[in-house]
Amino acid sequence: MARYTGPVCRLCRTEQKKLMLKGGRCKSDKCPLNKKRAAPGKDPKARPGKRSDYGLQLREKQKLKRIYGMLEKQFSLFFERALRMSGITGENLFVLLERRLDNVVYRLRFAASRSQARQMVLHGHVLVNGRRVDVPSALVRPGDEIEIRERSKNLVVIKDSLKEFGRSGVMPWLHLDPDSLKGQFIAVPRRSDITDLADIKEQMIVELYSK
Ligand code: SF4
Repeated sequence: MARYTGPVCRLCRTEQKKLMLKGGRCKSDKCPLNKKRAAPGKDPKARPGKRSDYGLQLREKQKLKRIYGMLEKQFSLFFERALRMSGITGENLFVLLERRLDNVVYRLRFAASRSQARQMVLHGHVLVNGRRVDVPSALVRPGDEIEIRERSKNLVVIKDSLKEFGRSGVMPWLHLDPDSLKGQFIAVPRRSDITDLADIKEQMIVELYSK
């Protein structure tokens, strides 16, 4: 599946929000948003214009899509799947996105960013229930065990990521054993559990796709 290959900090500047696409750099002083850089092509002194409802809905969708590193086609397929599920569509969408294997690898702190996690999955470093899975969009189920394959356990990127981010622990629906580089997807999260994305208004995304 295709992916965005342009400059990622530009995406954050467009949204004027930290989308955390670059691992350690996002938490450092090097993040352009810490320097209050304006959106690309915008005069930093210009007053922000009023956005239409459509504009606000579009920006909300773009933010979520970019956070999970997806392009429009794949994101809309996820949305269609969320629509077919019982329950609240916006919440279903979050649950599906959180179940993506690349996201789970990132959440388990094996990678510093979702794009790095995606690379690790594509390169076959990740096992699910003991079997190699190299599809980043594969959906993980409750009870699944996710681990780094034996001969990849010494990879510097994994060690660095665990050292830098492992201290803050993992999300409550995951379990991590940092010594054996094994984790488990314990349960499907509720929307309210996804606290780091609490400011995303998924209802706006549902309204956008309902037009
Ligand atoms: Fe976004 Fe991270 Fe770049 Fe900051 S450093 S603009 S949070 S990708």
